[in-house]
Amino acid sequence: MTPSSASPSSPFVVLNAGLQMPLVGLGTYKLRGLEGVYQAVDAALAAGYRAFDSAAVYRNEADLGRALWDLLPKYGLTRDDVFITSKLGPKDQGERAMEGALHSLSQLDLGYIDLYLIHWPGTQGLPVADQRNPGNRAQSWARLEELHGQGKLKAIGVSNYTPAHMKELIKSCKVPPAVLQVEFHPQLCQAELRSVCEEYGVCFQAYSSLGKGELIADPVVMEVAKNCKRTPAQVLLRWAVQQGVPVLPKSSNPERIQENAGVFDFTLSDTDMHRLSALDCGHKYCWDPSEVA
Ligand code: NAP
Repeated sequence: MTPSSASPSSPFVVLNAGLQMPLVGLGTYKLRGLEGVYQAVDAALAAGYRAFDSAAVYRNEADLGRALWDLLPKYGLTRDDVFITSKLGPKDQGERAMEGALHSLSQLDLGYIDLYLIHWPGTQGLPVADQRNPGNRAQSWARLEELHGQGKLKAIGVSNYTPAHMKELIKSCKVPPAVLQVEFHPQLCQAELRSVCEEYGVCFQAYSSLGKGELIADPVVMEVAKNCKRTPAQVLLRWAVQQGVPVLPKSSNPERIQENAGVFDFTLSDTDMHRLSALDCGHKYCWDPSEVA
């Protein structure tokens, strides 16, 4: 997917559903409580972020929606200027999917959700090999398609799906997924999933680009950062966006929120890109969806 740009501060990708999704969004996992969410959203809007990634399981949808309602006018922005992602919790997979998605819509209270993802291929409480999992995934997708048809979810997609889950979905869906959000960083390059996404026109989106903060201490990342006079976090994020992959760095710290947005005014050389990609070793800092049937 080729990145485009209307303004230098918020380049975007165009999804198959026709929407523009910013290449950098604020991750909000572990941002909890109105005060903390408010401070992070304020810093993010000031730094030029126009996308925010939430989920039912983060239990911050209501605080995110409220912070945005309060803060958008301060920056001369309206609801349509921001791109909000949320996700259906694994406990709502299957017959509770409509209820779960409507709950996200009412918690955020922003009129519509730009992108709504099935958070996880499995169902909470079911063993990974349980034969009900594929049916539950299909049922969730059908409900998301309904809400997409009603304009309540502008785009729909999935997260943590393996290549097999993606193929199962593509075969049976009426509306193709717009996005696959998975863990992606130099230690986890996800070649197979990226090629499945490319084949089916699905935008491949990264989470945990900083390896939950641990990858910034990697010696190669640190050396590349020193050579190009940038921070390790900026190098990790640039490595992804330079490949057209949208990122969602999470920080609760206003200085780091600003730092993480500064990835569009420098380029990594081919040599540095290759050195970083050579760190690929299949290491996951987050949960492992390949254990789910
Ligand atoms: P991440 O963005 O890789 O790393 C976040 C950690 O790095 C935090 O501890 C943060 O600490 C620290 N950090 C951020 N910027 C920094 C900087 N410039 N320098 C040094 N440290 C920095 O981890 P993540 O939260 O796992 O992933 C990002 C987002 O992706 C999540 O918040 C969530 O929105 C999404 N996500 C989705 C899934 C999924 O299943 N779909 C799974 C995981 C994540 P401070 O807050 O103290 O700055």
